Amino acid sequence: MQHILDAISADASPDEIANLAVPDTYRAAYVRRQDTEMFDGLESWEKDPAKSIHVGEVATPELAPDEAYVAIMASSINFNTVWTSIFEPLPTFGFLDRLGRESKWGARHALDQHIVGSDGSGVVLQVGSAVRNWKPGDRVTIHCNYVDDQDPSAHDDSMKAANQRIWGFETNFGGLADLAVVKANQLMPKPAHLSWEESAVNALCASTSYRMLVSSNAVQMKQGDVVLIWGATGGIGGYAVQLVLNGGGIPVGVVSSEDKADLLRQMGCEAVINRKEKGYRFWKDDNTQDESEWRRLGKDIRELVGEDPDIVFEHPGRQTMGASVYVTKRAGTIVTCAATSGYTIEYDNRHLWMRLKRIIASHFANYDEAWNMNRLVSMGAIQPTLSATYTLDQVGEAARKIHHNEHEGKLGVLCLAPQEGLGITDHALREKVGEDKITLFARHHAA
Ligand code: NDP
Repeated sequence: MQHILDAISADASPDEIANLAVPDTYRAAYVRRQDTEMFDGLESWEKDPAKSIHVGEVATPELAPDEAYVAIMASSINFNTVWTSIFEPLPTFGFLDRLGRESKWGARHALDQHIVGSDGSGVVLQVGSAVRNWKPGDRVTIHCNYVDDQDPSAHDDSMKAANQRIWGFETNFGGLADLAVVKANQLMPKPAHLSWEESAVNALCASTSYRMLVSSNAVQMKQGDVVLIWGATGGIGGYAVQLVLNGGGIPVGVVSSEDKADLLRQMGCEAVINRKEKGYRFWKDDNTQDESEWRRLGKDIRELVGEDPDIVFEHPGRQTMGASVYVTKRAGTIVTCAATSGYTIEYDNRHLWMRLKRIIASHFANYDEAWNMNRLVSMGAIQPTLSATYTLDQVGEAARKIHHNEHEGKLGVLCLAPQEGLGITDHALREKVGEDKITLFARHHAA
């Protein structure tokens, strides 16, 4: 891939990029089918992504007519790579095999190695014969909604498509690699004022938060809404806080350390709850929840903002859902996209129906939502939450950090990019937005 990196570094013309040979193999981070039972008998937290994620050469697949090869300059770690690497709740090879049965092009994905990663920034190298809107040399970011656009169910909201998938999780050839194969309708323009790694960390988490809070497909927050945000300096939470502030809402951010509380205040979130300091015990034991602890959280929120949340941004799942349903304002909404602490959820339904609350399910974002979110990032209205950057060889270690909740915001990964800070072309916009704002998470992490 050196000749590709040299051409990108030298700002080669679209024609020169189009004429670059795409190598037969490339470097990628992957898990192996033969390893899916390696953690059997261990507790979830004992399963180490660094033991199951390998980095090595893989074969370059043939390009389908609606796809592009992208030279990946940088990528990011998402929680889905943690799930893939610890083979929970299921090994992801089942997803690849199902895709493999769909079509000739789908069959390429059903391999004994799963190349992971659902984010990326880079340069288009080649496009398939059916691609119209993108060409070699285009600088892009990639969103992870992988849809079959010949399926009628994909044509209202593509997240409702019967065979909608997440690229690099439910498909192969993901972004934690020097090269990726993506559908043309996953491509978006790279924010010109950001580096490769700053551009690579936003698409998955920011678009998820955008759909949950802004889109008419979920809650469509109003000015003045109080929004309780769990994990407010985490991957999706860090973007949720920014979206609520931009939209005239009042975020109440929950975090688990004073350090994170400090970061949250620097983001402009004034109402902060340190859940560790508060010591909430929503569960008395594995089977019994404690309503008095839900009430204590509700009281803490009222003390901070004077009222109950119109919206709860939910994703921890089993540990918090009972409390989330309880504290939501009468006729308010709980929007959920995950269940990190357990997916069998319990809440007291009386608090839901008697008070006319709603639970809305949300999952990633359609192309329109991802595009709108990318536009906000490109305008400098939403900042990347990149706190630290790793090399491709360190993907396992970085995934372990996320698995153990030892990170803030997003962790970036340099793929082809030889160092941090490259790829910025609009210096004037960067200066206008402000280095301090763009690098808040990274500076906080370094301090
Ligand atoms: P992160 O780990 O970056 O952040 C999650 C935060 O949640 C943590 O930092 C932690 O913050 C908080 N948290 C974790 N466990 C608990 C708990 N038991 N109780 C309260 N808070 C908790 O992950 P992401 O934000 O990237 O993702 C969060 C979840 O959302 C994951 O399960 C992920 O798979 C899922 N997800 C789903 C998407 C979709 O499209 N459906 C898209 C993106 C993510 P603190 O300790 O500071 O409180």
